[in-house]
Formats: sequence, C-alpha cells, structure tokens
Amino acid sequence: MELLKERILKDGKSFDGGILKVDSFINHQMDPVLMKAIASEFVQRFSDLNINKIITIEASGIAPAIMVGLELNLPVVFVKKAKPKTMAGFYASQVYSFTKDRTYDVCVSSQFLNENDNVIFIDDFLANGNAALGVENLIKQSGANLLGMGFIIEKSFQEGRDRLLNENIRVESLIRLKSLGDNSIIFEEQ
Ligand code: 5GP
Repeated sequence: MELLKERILKDGKSFDGGILKVDSFINHQMDPVLMKAIASEFVQRFSDLNINKIITIEASGIAPAIMVGLELNLPVVFVKKAKPKTMAGFYASQVYSFTKDRTYDVCVSSQFLNENDNVIFIDDFLANGNAALGVENLIKQSGANLLGMGFIIEKSFQEGRDRLLNENIRVESLIRLKSLGDNSIIFEEQ
C-alpha cells in the first residue's frame, strides 16, 4: 500500500531493537483519512469472504477495525485487556506484550462472540503474534469461525506470520517490514 509506505517513511520513527513508532498517525494521534484508506484496502483484500463481524483488541486495533466495520456495515467487537465487573459470561486468555514486556489477561463477552460468527481480526502491528494468538484462543473457545487476520504493519523479521500460518490462519498485511534499525526502515518487496 503505497500511501502507507510513504507515510511511514515521512512520519515513522524506527529504533534499534526493531521498534517502529507510528504514534503521530496510527496509534496515539490518528489520521482518519489514512485510516479510511487502510480500511478500504482491508475490505478489498477480504472481499471474497462472508464476514458478519470484525474483531480487534484494545487499544490500537480499534481505530482500523471500526473503519472496516463502517465500510462493511458490520459490528466490531474489541477484546478487553481487563475484565469489567459487570461482565457475566466471558472467554479469557493470556497475552504477552512485546512492547510492554508483561503478560496480561484478555477477555471477550460470550454475548458478542459465538458459533454463528464468521470473523476477521484486525490490528495495527503483527510482531511475534502473541496478541493475535491470544485472540485466536478466545475465538476458538467461543466456537466462532476465524476467516482471516489483517494487520496494518507486519514486522516480517519477527515470528508472528509463521506462527499464524502454522495455525492455518490467513494473514493479510498492508505493509511488511524486512528490518528496522536506528533510523532505518527497510520494506519487503511486495
Ligand atoms: P505481537 O503480539 O504480535 O508480538 O505484537 C503486536 C502488538 O504489539 C501490537 O498490537 C502492537 O500494539 C505492539 N507492537 C509490536 N511491535 C510494535 C512496534 O514496533 N511498534 C509499535 N508501536 N507497536 C508494536
């Protein structure tokens, strides 16, 4: 996705250790025009599927997911990183966070995910795949059907893609990064 590539080169900041900061346009301050274009690209890539719900994880996945939901006129469910006191029936799992270096519980209400659902998962980054696999676990518990996963940015030098493909999950990444270093961003040929 050329528009996204240009924006990453213009406003993204890369650091040694393989971290890309995109907080001026994706996950802190957000650019809704870019987010709309991102959503349209996801919709096009998943256009062969019969989806009835979008699933994501708070917080950074919510913006792209809701834009996809708006374009497809479908509900969007976000997996929570803390269980609200008022949530009765729910599925829970654990996720290790790459950026925060800690493990946290994630959950989703059984009211909003069940065996009648055909879902795609949308998130901002695919790194080691921990968040995605945690959500896959919740989807499996609920009996819903996972049709694919879409990521704005995939860090292809980490193991996420392989781990998801091992689970037979279809992966669509709008941008794939080959490497990230101090002030160096190298894209995979696509
Ligand atoms: P994973 O669970 O695939 O290891 O990591 C994905 C999650 O970690 C994403 O939801 C994202 O929030 C965060 N993350 C991973 N790598 C990066 C990165 O380079 N930059 C930013 N901003 N977030 C990242």
